[in-house]
Amino acid sequence: MNLSQDHLAIQTTCAYCGVGCGVKATMQADGAVVIAGDAQHPANQGRLCVKGSALGETLGLDGRLLYPQLRTAQGLKRVSWDEALDTVADKWRSIIAEHGPDAVALYVSGQLLTEDYYVANKLMKGYVGSANIDTNSRLCMSSAVAAHKRAFGEDLVPVCYDDLELADMIVLVGSNTAWCHPILFQRIQRARELRPELKLVVIDPRRTATCELADLHLPVWQGTDTWLFNGLLSYLARIGAVDPDYVAAHTNGLDEALAAANVDCSDPAEVARVCRIELDVLMEFYEMFAATAKVITAFSMGVNQSSAGTDKANSIINCHLIGGRIGRPGMGPFSITGQPNAMGGREVGGLANMLAAHMELDNRAHRELVQTFWESPRMASKQGLKAVDLFRAIEDGKVKAVWIIATNPLVSLPDAEQARRALANCEMVVATDIIQNTDTNACADVLLPALGWGEKDGTVTNSERRISRQRAFQPAPGEALADWKILSLFAQKMGYTGFDFAGPHEIFEEHVRLSSFRNTPEDLPRVFDMSGLGGMSQREYDDMPPTQWPVQVVQDAQARLFGDGRFAHADGKARFIPITPRPPVNQTGGEFHLALNTGRVRDQWHTMTRSGRAPKLADHIAESFIDMHPHDALLHGVREGELARISTGWGAMVARVQHGGGIARGSAFVPIHWSNQTASDARVGTLVNPEVDPVSGEPEFKHTPAKVEPFPVAWHGFILSRSAIALNEVAHWTRIQGREFARYELAGRNSISDFSAWARALLGVHDIDADWLEYEDRSAGIYRAAHVVNDRIQQCIFLSPRQDMPPRAWLASLFVKPELSEIDRVGLLAGMPVEKRADSGPTVCSCFGVGRNTICETIRIKKLDAVPQITACLKAGSNCGSCVPELKKLLAETKATDAA
Ligand code: SF4
Repeated sequence: MNLSQDHLAIQTTCAYCGVGCGVKATMQADGAVVIAGDAQHPANQGRLCVKGSALGETLGLDGRLLYPQLRTAQGLKRVSWDEALDTVADKWRSIIAEHGPDAVALYVSGQLLTEDYYVANKLMKGYVGSANIDTNSRLCMSSAVAAHKRAFGEDLVPVCYDDLELADMIVLVGSNTAWCHPILFQRIQRARELRPELKLVVIDPRRTATCELADLHLPVWQGTDTWLFNGLLSYLARIGAVDPDYVAAHTNGLDEALAAANVDCSDPAEVARVCRIELDVLMEFYEMFAATAKVITAFSMGVNQSSAGTDKANSIINCHLIGGRIGRPGMGPFSITGQPNAMGGREVGGLANMLAAHMELDNRAHRELVQTFWESPRMASKQGLKAVDLFRAIEDGKVKAVWIIATNPLVSLPDAEQARRALANCEMVVATDIIQNTDTNACADVLLPALGWGEKDGTVTNSERRISRQRAFQPAPGEALADWKILSLFAQKMGYTGFDFAGPHEIFEEHVRLSSFRNTPEDLPRVFDMSGLGGMSQREYDDMPPTQWPVQVVQDAQARLFGDGRFAHADGKARFIPITPRPPVNQTGGEFHLALNTGRVRDQWHTMTRSGRAPKLADHIAESFIDMHPHDALLHGVREGELARISTGWGAMVARVQHGGGIARGSAFVPIHWSNQTASDARVGTLVNPEVDPVSGEPEFKHTPAKVEPFPVAWHGFILSRSAIALNEVAHWTRIQGREFARYELAGRNSISDFSAWARALLGVHDIDADWLEYEDRSAGIYRAAHVVNDRIQQCIFLSPRQDMPPRAWLASLFVKPELSEIDRVGLLAGMPVEKRADSGPTVCSCFGVGRNTICETIRIKKLDAVPQITACLKAGSNCGSCVPELKKLLAETKATDAA
């Protein structure tokens, strides 16, 4: 049902990660939207993490792309939809006529709804006649897809979320689940509270928040997973932890896989040496795995984003097949997807090497089936270009027009400057987006406005194959259209039939029919079959409850796969894949001593075009950072809290050094989220080597040789301002969204001779009679000023040669006041109230705004021993629970400090 029982809340699905949580959005009379978890949704059962619960803060129209625009010599010009799409269609037609269909391409996104994705794929592969449609999911989970296909014969996730609660042991590999899939992690936490015998093992080079609740952490060196799991396979065989009946009846290739594993990985001591972990830790993991039947091995980007990502995933799957740990409750390998609809994209064939409905481009019978179904004039006959190769082909001029939809490749691709060169060299770049200003949109010739979350309507599929409705609860802003509609209108401009869909319901119906078309054991069988969802009326589609595929009969949707031991290979058997371990392509050495690892932080998403708009999400980690071991920092001449420049053979960026991320010596970690819209120079994509997995094409985001150098500056500062500030002259800045203001953290290399004139010019306060309060200590180089308009604070600026400036929280609180009191004015230039309150420190609990200092102080004063006590005192951790691992860490750290 789309309306819950109070008839006010729309049931929809979270816009962020692949957990796919159900959300209830309730419109208030004043236009505000209240967001809550949907208790009826099986994925989250009413809970939301901090990102999901802050979705309401991301809905405003500030910065939205609202009208089609064409770039002219004078800049962007608003045009009609007809003119925009005619311009694109004319160009595509002429390029295709002259250079063939492979000279155009779509680059799409796991943010798209399945219906959007379906139309995009049909357009390119069935009508343009090229498979040059790839997606940012290539950067995320394509290695898992390739591994599934090699092992199982089809891209199939064997398990479901309930299995996490039924397991006796959960192994998380390359997955900071506590931060990146928080609701799944909370399900694991709750299961462990109920059944303490459920063991949690984390395999990750970093000691992440996820490790705080683990029984065992294996801090393997980056890129050594295949040694670890080959070693496990070898160990299991050696001690006889094999299910010979299962292996004989349901698998092929064990001998070859074992032979490959035994070449380098039969000696645990050697495996421990390569993985750089203690032998007894390794053996504890191996023994636990061997002794436990119900094991889930969940893996994510730490496995996938590697030049050996497919092999890593298969080395995990091998270890499950040898003991038959698959197909039954509480066991199996489990790829956790990153994006909200990465799985939906896989269903429709949104990757350049897939067809549609789990069929293969390389299979003539599959191509004929799809062509017959689509009645398509021109089918793609070979695989298209995968993301990295696509942008190379654009730079080389082989692909002359690209249409980028709902993604920001200038930030997210490896060697991101190459992507900029590619777009600069492209005859026509079209970008469909919901945001006007992104790094990618700055390179676009045509901008097309799309509907955003809360406005669009369709389906998404989460990591456990569960299809959920995303429903609109807000009207379309400006002239924005649904992505399926934009693509359908374009297809019609191109003269193609088959795109006259009345709405997402009709597209979904066609997608369902394709999944079951000639899908019989005698013809062309596929496990992916949604026939049970066919023939729905509009009303039934609108009311569709979350449902897992495969689903031939609605009541009979399959929670987990392979229970009968039958796999999708022609012989019905799974394949062991022989794995020869290989290290990352580019090794550290020479001037580049550090292995750069990249990933997410807790409260941000992708390139922050949505999450960066939510003040609630801005405080946990406000700026990009370079996390490195203190010894490495010393060796590289940088200190915690200072700015440093990190560079690789591909690019460089600047961020603040920090320790405490549990990182090993010899490596560094930088988050992926910051772009040129949010920081002067913090796009980590420019640093990442563009090496890819030879099977999946997924880039090696987790290992690039790097070096770190000091980034000396003359002064530090910050600005809080209601209006946007241009900071082109400032050496380093980061923009952070606040409530009714933007905060800019600054650092400069220039010497400022006249602080007042400089600050007024920067903030645009030219009126000499303006209410401008200022304080200057010239000898100390300290300057502070505030601009007040009609008794409301408009802007303030603080500059100092040292970093120890006032905390920002009290100043920020002044921006929501209708007017400043006299006492506020007195405290303004001190940056703190007259009655000085303690600085609560960086935010740990975003839901209740509880800072680190407050938490540590409370632990000390009240002599707290457990996280629930902190929660009872401060509420921290009582809502979304995302901060619970950090609370646990703070508890341990505070008690250790006090004991010392
Ligand atoms: S875990 Fe958080 S980000 Fe992911 S779907 Fe659920 S609420 Fe959204």
